[in-house]
Amino acid sequence: MERILVSACLLGRPVRYDGRPKLSNDAIIARWMEEGRVVSVCPEVAVGFPTPRPPAEIRGNQTKESAPSSQEVDCRELDGVSVLAGGASVVEQTGGEITDLFVRAAGDTVAIARRFGCRHAVLTDGSPSCGSTFIYDGSFSGNRVEGMGVTTAALREAGIEVWPETKLAELDELLQAGGGSPS
Ligand code: SF4
Repeated sequence: MERILVSACLLGRPVRYDGRPKLSNDAIIARWMEEGRVVSVCPEVAVGFPTPRPPAEIRGNQTKESAPSSQEVDCRELDGVSVLAGGASVVEQTGGEITDLFVRAAGDTVAIARRFGCRHAVLTDGSPSCGSTFIYDGSFSGNRVEGMGVTTAALREAGIEVWPETKLAELDELLQAGGGSPS
């Protein structure tokens, strides 16, 4: 049974910055839980952030396509791989700069995924850690931009496919067809 990495907040854990969950009532996740497929992870809490905590956003461009290579600009790297665009940083609304902790959280999450043999992850979109199709622009004004969180970037670099919670059905179909499982 192939394991799937899933954001803890989607499973109802109250780990978001505001101390609340973002519970997905999707029947697919409930079935995956019954099947024993789910590996729950909250990269931010696992690395030591408290709950609740100040909101955080990525300031600077995080789209992989537009991220300059590490030869050109001082990119944030994890095992020699850029997980944050050059010049980008993770900042708290209260002014703190927390980029290093987010990069460490990303590395820890990759290690968990590898330990459980996960080849797919379903993470909460929009988060500066877990976002996979969009994030917020760093102005704390609710502006969405195309991009991904730091943990998502690290997982993708490690060859793990990251899906937003809106694409559960597509991943489930892939798994049912045997396309997602080596076992
Ligand atoms: Fe934790 Fe990711 Fe959920 Fe944020 S989106 S609370 S980092 S699991």
